[in-house]
Amino acid sequence: MNTAVAERPKSLAKLKARQEIAERTMAFHFEKPVNFKFTSGQFVDITLLDPPETDAEGNARSFSIASAPDEDFIMVATRIRDTAFKRVLTTIDLGAEVRIEGPFGDLRLHNDKSRAAVVLTGGIGITPFRSILLHAAKEKLQHRIFLFYANRRPEDAAFLNELQELEKKNPNYKLIACMSEMDRSQQPWSGERGLINQALLEKYLKGVPSPVYYITGPPDMVKAMHAILTGAGVDDDNVRIEEFPGY
Ligand SMILES: Cc1cc2nc3c(=O)[nH]c(=O)nc-3n(C[C@H](O)[C@H](O)[C@H](O)COP(=O)(O)OP(=O)(O)OC[C@H]3O[C@@H](n4cnc5c(N)ncnc54)[C@H](O)[C@@H]3O)c2cc1C
Repeated sequence: MNTAVAERPKSLAKLKARQEIAERTMAFHFEKPVNFKFTSGQFVDITLLDPPETDAEGNARSFSIASAPDEDFIMVATRIRDTAFKRVLTTIDLGAEVRIEGPFGDLRLHNDKSRAAVVLTGGIGITPFRSILLHAAKEKLQHRIFLFYANRRPEDAAFLNELQELEKKNPNYKLIACMSEMDRSQQPWSGERGLINQALLEKYLKGVPSPVYYITGPPDMVKAMHAILTGAGVDDDNVRIEEFPGY
Protein backbone atom coordinates (compact mmCIF):
# COMPACT_ATOMS: atom_id res chain seq x y z
CA MET A 1 0.00 0.00 0.00
CA ASN A 2 1.24 3.46 -0.87
CA THR A 3 1.31 5.20 2.52
CA ALA A 4 2.13 8.60 1.02
CA VAL A 5 -1.25 8.53 -0.73
CA ALA A 6 -3.06 7.11 2.29
CA GLU A 7 -1.77 9.94 4.46
CA ARG A 8 -3.03 12.76 2.28
CA PRO A 9 -5.45 14.60 4.56
CA LYS A 10 -8.85 14.62 2.91
CA SER A 11 -12.39 15.62 3.80
CA LEU A 12 -15.73 16.15 2.16
CA ALA A 13 -16.99 19.71 2.09
CA LYS A 14 -20.17 21.32 0.85
CA LEU A 15 -20.17 24.19 -1.64
CA LYS A 16 -21.73 27.05 0.33
CA ALA A 17 -21.56 30.00 -2.07
CA ARG A 18 -20.12 31.21 -5.31
CA GLN A 19 -19.80 34.74 -6.59
CA GLU A 20 -18.31 36.60 -9.51
CA ILE A 21 -15.35 38.60 -8.19
CA ALA A 22 -14.10 40.00 -11.52
CA GLU A 23 -14.93 39.44 -15.16
CA ARG A 24 -14.73 35.70 -15.96
CA THR A 25 -13.50 35.09 -12.44
CA MET A 26 -15.37 33.36 -9.64
CA ALA A 27 -14.83 32.64 -5.99
CA PHE A 28 -16.16 29.43 -4.44
CA HIS A 29 -16.79 29.09 -0.71
CA PHE A 30 -16.72 25.63 0.81
CA GLU A 31 -17.58 24.70 4.35
CA LYS A 32 -14.45 24.32 6.41
CA PRO A 33 -13.93 20.71 7.50
CA VAL A 34 -13.65 20.22 11.26
CA ASN A 35 -10.05 20.61 12.44
CA PHE A 36 -8.92 21.94 9.04
CA LYS A 37 -5.87 24.10 9.73
CA PHE A 38 -3.64 25.79 7.19
CA THR A 39 -1.08 28.52 6.83
CA SER A 40 -1.84 31.43 4.51
CA GLY A 41 -0.21 30.68 1.15
CA GLN A 42 -1.01 26.96 1.06
CA PHE A 43 -3.23 25.21 -1.47
CA VAL A 44 -5.78 22.40 -1.62
CA ASP A 45 -6.75 19.82 -4.21
CA ILE A 46 -10.46 19.86 -5.00
CA THR A 47 -12.08 16.80 -6.57
CA LEU A 48 -15.58 16.78 -8.04
CA LEU A 49 -17.55 13.74 -6.90
CA ASP A 50 -19.45 11.86 -9.58
CA PRO A 51 -19.67 14.89 -11.90
CA PRO A 52 -22.16 14.90 -14.78
CA GLU A 53 -19.27 15.35 -17.25
CA THR A 54 -15.51 15.04 -17.26
CA ASP A 55 -12.63 15.42 -19.73
CA ALA A 56 -9.06 14.30 -20.24
CA GLU A 57 -7.77 16.56 -17.46
CA GLY A 58 -9.87 14.69 -14.89
CA ASN A 59 -12.00 15.74 -11.94
CA ALA A 60 -9.42 17.39 -9.68
CA ARG A 61 -7.56 20.70 -9.68
CA SER A 62 -5.20 22.44 -7.25
CA PHE A 63 -6.20 25.84 -5.92
CA SER A 64 -4.47 28.23 -3.55
CA ILE A 65 -6.58 28.99 -0.52
CA ALA A 66 -7.72 32.59 -0.89
CA SER A 67 -9.52 32.77 2.46
CA ALA A 68 -7.71 33.69 5.65
CA PRO A 69 -7.20 31.09 8.39
CA ASP A 70 -9.71 32.80 10.69
CA GLU A 71 -12.51 32.89 8.10
CA ASP A 72 -15.05 30.13 8.66
CA PHE A 73 -15.00 28.86 5.08
CA ILE A 74 -12.42 27.76 2.52
CA MET A 75 -12.46 30.03 -0.48
CA VAL A 76 -10.77 29.41 -3.80
CA ALA A 77 -10.96 31.62 -6.87
CA THR A 78 -10.39 30.89 -10.52
CA ARG A 79 -10.65 32.23 -14.03
CA ILE A 80 -13.67 30.56 -15.60
CA ARG A 81 -12.80 28.75 -18.80
CA ASP A 82 -14.70 26.26 -20.86
CA THR A 83 -13.37 23.06 -19.30
CA ALA A 84 -15.49 20.23 -17.89
CA PHE A 85 -14.19 20.83 -14.35
CA LYS A 86 -15.11 24.50 -14.40
CA ARG A 87 -18.44 23.97 -16.14
CA VAL A 88 -19.42 21.59 -13.35
CA LEU A 89 -18.07 23.78 -10.54
CA THR A 90 -20.07 26.76 -11.78
CA THR A 91 -23.31 24.82 -12.18
CA ILE A 92 -23.54 22.20 -9.39
CA ASP A 93 -26.13 22.93 -6.72
CA LEU A 94 -25.10 24.77 -3.61
CA GLY A 95 -24.82 22.10 -0.93
CA ALA A 96 -23.15 19.61 -3.29
CA GLU A 97 -20.09 17.94 -1.82
CA VAL A 98 -16.55 17.93 -3.15
CA ARG A 99 -13.44 16.26 -1.77
CA ILE A 100 -10.85 18.64 -0.36
CA GLU A 101 -7.32 17.33 0.12
CA GLY A 102 -4.63 19.27 1.87
CA PRO A 103 -3.45 21.74 2.87
CA PHE A 104 -0.26 21.42 0.84
CA GLY A 105 2.64 23.62 -0.14
CA ASP A 106 5.22 25.77 1.55
CA LEU A 107 4.50 29.20 0.10
CA ARG A 108 4.19 31.39 3.19
CA LEU A 109 5.36 34.74 4.48
CA HIS A 110 8.96 34.54 5.67
CA ASN A 111 9.71 34.88 9.37
CA ASP A 112 12.30 37.68 9.38
CA LYS A 113 10.16 40.80 9.72
CA SER A 114 13.15 43.08 9.10
CA ARG A 115 13.03 41.99 5.44
CA ALA A 116 10.20 43.32 3.28
CA ALA A 117 8.03 41.02 1.18
CA VAL A 118 7.77 42.13 -2.44
CA VAL A 119 5.00 40.32 -4.29
CA LEU A 120 4.91 40.31 -8.08
CA THR A 121 1.69 38.88 -9.41
CA GLY A 122 -1.14 39.39 -11.80
CA GLY A 123 -4.57 38.06 -12.61
CA ILE A 124 -5.50 34.92 -10.74
CA GLY A 125 -2.03 34.71 -9.16
CA ILE A 126 -3.40 36.98 -6.43
CA THR A 127 -5.24 34.16 -4.62
CA PRO A 128 -2.66 33.13 -1.97
CA PHE A 129 -1.91 36.77 -1.21
CA ARG A 130 -5.48 37.66 -0.31
CA SER A 131 -5.05 35.11 2.47
CA ILE A 132 -1.55 36.25 3.43
CA LEU A 133 -2.54 39.95 3.49
CA LEU A 134 -5.71 39.43 5.52
CA HIS A 135 -3.73 37.38 8.00
CA ALA A 136 -0.92 39.97 8.20
CA ALA A 137 -3.44 42.76 8.88
CA LYS A 138 -5.32 40.78 11.51
CA GLU A 139 -2.20 39.66 13.35
CA LYS A 140 -0.57 43.09 12.95
CA LEU A 141 2.53 41.49 11.44
CA GLN A 142 5.36 43.98 11.19
CA HIS A 143 6.68 42.95 7.76
CA ARG A 144 6.57 45.63 5.10
CA ILE A 145 4.64 44.17 2.19
CA PHE A 146 4.67 45.61 -1.34
CA LEU A 147 2.05 44.04 -3.61
CA PHE A 148 2.66 44.67 -7.31
CA TYR A 149 -0.61 43.48 -8.89
CA ALA A 150 -0.91 43.55 -12.70
CA ASN A 151 -4.16 43.28 -14.63
CA ARG A 152 -5.46 44.45 -17.96
CA ARG A 153 -8.30 46.48 -16.41
CA PRO A 154 -9.84 47.04 -12.98
CA GLU A 155 -12.77 44.92 -14.22
CA ASP A 156 -10.37 41.94 -14.42
CA ALA A 157 -8.71 42.45 -11.04
CA ALA A 158 -10.02 40.00 -8.44
CA PHE A 159 -10.30 41.34 -4.86
CA LEU A 160 -9.16 44.82 -5.96
CA ASN A 161 -11.43 46.80 -3.60
CA GLU A 162 -10.60 44.58 -0.68
CA LEU A 163 -6.86 44.87 -1.35
CA GLN A 164 -7.20 48.67 -1.53
CA GLU A 165 -9.17 48.77 1.75
CA LEU A 166 -6.52 46.66 3.47
CA GLU A 167 -4.04 49.52 3.12
CA LYS A 168 -6.11 51.40 5.74
CA LYS A 169 -5.83 48.47 8.17
CA ASN A 170 -2.15 47.72 7.70
CA PRO A 171 0.27 50.67 7.56
CA ASN A 172 3.09 48.31 6.58
CA TYR A 173 1.35 47.26 3.36
CA LYS A 174 1.44 49.07 0.02
CA LEU A 175 -0.60 48.07 -3.04
CA ILE A 176 0.83 48.99 -6.44
CA ALA A 177 -1.87 47.86 -8.87
CA CYS A 178 -1.13 48.49 -12.52
CA MET A 179 -3.46 48.24 -15.51
CA SER A 180 -2.21 47.58 -19.03
CA GLU A 181 -5.38 48.06 -21.13
CA MET A 182 -7.25 51.02 -19.69
CA ASP A 183 -8.40 52.01 -23.19
CA ARG A 184 -10.77 49.01 -22.97
CA SER A 185 -12.02 49.84 -19.46
CA GLN A 186 -15.28 51.50 -18.38
CA GLN A 187 -13.92 52.32 -14.94
CA PRO A 188 -11.88 55.27 -13.71
CA TRP A 189 -8.25 54.55 -12.78
CA SER A 190 -5.73 56.86 -11.17
CA GLY A 191 -3.11 54.22 -10.36
CA GLU A 192 -0.16 52.90 -12.33
CA ARG A 193 -0.54 51.88 -15.98
CA GLY A 194 1.35 49.41 -18.11
CA LEU A 195 3.14 46.26 -17.09
CA ILE A 196 5.25 45.51 -14.06
CA ASN A 197 8.82 46.29 -15.05
CA GLN A 198 12.14 47.15 -13.50
CA ALA A 199 11.43 50.91 -13.53
CA LEU A 200 8.21 50.38 -11.55
CA LEU A 201 10.03 48.26 -8.98
CA GLU A 202 12.75 50.89 -8.61
CA LYS A 203 10.17 53.64 -8.17
CA TYR A 204 8.60 51.97 -5.13
CA LEU A 205 11.46 49.96 -3.67
CA LYS A 206 14.12 52.63 -3.37
CA GLY A 207 15.88 52.15 -0.02
CA VAL A 208 14.12 48.86 0.81
CA PRO A 209 16.93 46.57 1.97
CA SER A 210 17.18 42.92 0.82
CA PRO A 211 13.51 42.02 0.30
CA VAL A 212 12.18 38.52 -0.15
CA TYR A 213 10.40 38.36 -3.52
CA TYR A 214 7.30 36.28 -4.23
CA ILE A 215 6.00 35.42 -7.70
CA THR A 216 2.75 33.55 -8.23
CA GLY A 217 0.46 32.84 -11.14
CA PRO A 218 0.22 31.27 -14.57
CA PRO A 219 3.52 30.13 -16.16
CA ASP A 220 3.88 33.05 -18.60
CA MET A 221 3.39 35.56 -15.81
CA VAL A 222 5.89 33.77 -13.57
CA LYS A 223 8.45 33.64 -16.37
CA ALA A 224 8.10 37.36 -17.14
CA MET A 225 8.37 38.41 -13.48
CA HIS A 226 11.30 36.12 -12.85
CA ALA A 227 13.13 37.62 -15.86
CA ILE A 228 12.68 41.12 -14.41
CA LEU A 229 14.21 40.06 -11.10
CA THR A 230 17.05 38.20 -12.80
CA GLY A 231 17.70 41.30 -14.91
CA ALA A 232 17.81 43.40 -11.75
CA GLY A 233 20.45 41.08 -10.28
CA VAL A 234 18.21 39.51 -7.62
CA ASP A 235 19.60 36.20 -6.42
CA ASP A 236 17.21 33.24 -6.75
CA ASP A 237 17.79 32.49 -3.06
CA ASN A 238 15.62 35.54 -2.39
CA VAL A 239 12.80 34.57 -4.74
CA ARG A 240 9.87 32.28 -3.90
CA ILE A 241 7.75 31.05 -6.77
CA GLU A 242 4.39 29.29 -7.00
CA GLU A 243 3.37 28.49 -10.54
CA PHE A 244 -0.24 27.69 -11.50
CA PRO A 245 0.15 25.23 -14.40
CA GLY A 246 -2.82 24.65 -16.74
CA TYR A 247 -3.11 28.25 -17.95
C1 LIG B 1 -0.08 25.01 -6.27
C2 LIG B 1 -1.12 25.44 -7.29
C3 LIG B 1 -2.00 26.45 -7.00
C4 LIG B 1 -2.96 26.85 -7.93
N1 LIG B 1 -3.82 27.84 -7.59
C5 LIG B 1 -4.75 28.23 -8.48
C6 LIG B 1 -5.68 29.26 -8.13
O1 LIG B 1 -5.68 29.80 -7.03
N2 LIG B 1 -6.58 29.61 -9.07
C7 LIG B 1 -6.62 29.03 -10.32
O2 LIG B 1 -7.45 29.41 -11.13
N3 LIG B 1 -5.76 28.06 -10.66
C8 LIG B 1 -4.84 27.64 -9.78
N4 LIG B 1 -3.98 26.63 -10.11
C9 LIG B 1 -4.12 26.01 -11.45
C10 LIG B 1 -5.33 25.06 -11.47
O3 LIG B 1 -5.02 23.87 -10.78
C11 LIG B 1 -5.76 24.71 -12.90
O4 LIG B 1 -4.71 24.07 -13.56
C12 LIG B 1 -6.15 25.92 -13.72
O5 LIG B 1 -7.20 26.62 -13.04
C13 LIG B 1 -6.61 25.52 -15.12
O6 LIG B 1 -7.70 24.66 -15.02
P1 LIG B 1 -8.74 24.54 -16.25
O7 LIG B 1 -9.82 23.59 -15.81
O8 LIG B 1 -9.13 25.91 -16.69
O9 LIG B 1 -7.87 23.96 -17.41
P2 LIG B 1 -7.44 22.42 -17.69
O10 LIG B 1 -8.63 21.61 -18.07
O11 LIG B 1 -6.67 21.94 -16.54
O12 LIG B 1 -6.58 22.74 -18.93
C14 LIG B 1 -5.61 21.88 -19.36
C15 LIG B 1 -4.95 22.40 -20.57
O13 LIG B 1 -5.86 22.87 -21.56
C16 LIG B 1 -5.57 24.19 -21.96
N5 LIG B 1 -6.82 25.02 -21.93
C17 LIG B 1 -7.95 24.73 -21.28
N6 LIG B 1 -8.87 25.69 -21.47
C18 LIG B 1 -8.31 26.60 -22.26
C19 LIG B 1 -8.74 27.83 -22.83
N7 LIG B 1 -9.98 28.31 -22.61
N8 LIG B 1 -7.87 28.52 -23.58
C20 LIG B 1 -6.64 28.04 -23.82
N9 LIG B 1 -6.18 26.89 -23.33
C21 LIG B 1 -6.99 26.17 -22.57
C22 LIG B 1 -4.57 24.73 -21.00
O14 LIG B 1 -3.51 25.33 -21.70
C23 LIG B 1 -4.04 23.55 -20.24
O15 LIG B 1 -2.75 23.17 -20.65
C24 LIG B 1 -3.03 26.20 -9.20
C25 LIG B 1 -2.15 25.16 -9.48
C26 LIG B 1 -1.21 24.77 -8.56
C27 LIG B 1 -0.29 23.63 -8.89
